[in-house]
Amino acid sequence: MDCRQIEKIKSEAAAKRLLSKECWNSKKRICPRCSERKIYKLLDKRYRCKGCGYTFHDFTGRWINKCNLSCLQWIKIIGLFESECSILGIAKSLKISYNTAYKAVTHLRLSILSHSHNWQQWASNIETSAASHRIGSWKNAPKETFPPVFGAIKNGDQIISEYLPCLTVEDVLSLGLRLIRRNNLIYSSSFENYHSIFFYGLFDHENFDSIEFSRVKFHQELHDFWRYVAKRLCVGVSANKFPLFYKEIEYRYNNKGKISEEIVRFLCDHIPETIAK
Ligand SMILES: [Zn+2]
Repeated sequence: MDCRQIEKIKSEAAAKRLLSKECWNSKKRICPRCSERKIYKLLDKRYRCKGCGYTFHDFTGRWINKCNLSCLQWIKIIGLFESECSILGIAKSLKISYNTAYKAVTHLRLSILSHSHNWQQWASNIETSAASHRIGSWKNAPKETFPPVFGAIKNGDQIISEYLPCLTVEDVLSLGLRLIRRNNLIYSSSFENYHSIFFYGLFDHENFDSIEFSRVKFHQELHDFWRYVAKRLCVGVSANKFPLFYKEIEYRYNNKGKISEEIVRFLCDHIPETIAK
């Protein structure tokens, strides 16, 4: 499925059919709470578990169940998200509030994060509670460990990034690595098994003016990637939103921008138990 196929879906019924099919993958419905297979259908089209009595519907406990959006609205958001439409553009196109569009895209980013190979390491440091106004932000951290430091490894044409809690910005600045700055993104030459380590945001760093940034391009393997990242950060991202935003960019880069089909699958997956619901 690509943008054009998504654009062909025009009705709520067609959108719901597609998403329900993706949720259950032609398998018999089971209770999302106790996995009981014996369930019965209620008059309002929901289901009830014969084992534990839990009442649920096709999207219970899944990312797609967030934000009170219709199936057709989600399909449209996925199409616009693939084409990198702004939050404001999504809000205007769907005639929904900026806040709702923002929350929908944040959940979409969280669903991307929850499908990355080392997602728990990142998710444990990102506010995931839908009830929090800080959803999507890096959790409150002591000043000396913020902004967080990450490491990137290039493996073939894929980028794998890890949070490095054992390193602070002070450590990075004292390692004698060559550093390149692209606005608020700072990345280094290789360090240990990482092709680059990086962080975002140095706004009030006391030694900021004394940092020597390299003007010489290095690390050609990652050059294209950093250019790709920096281009998408030019819209202005706060330091505490950067990690989740970055995971989206990394995902786009690794999938060469073609993401609609997989995003539908991600959104239809259950939200992991360790992520607040
Ligand atoms: Zn049950």
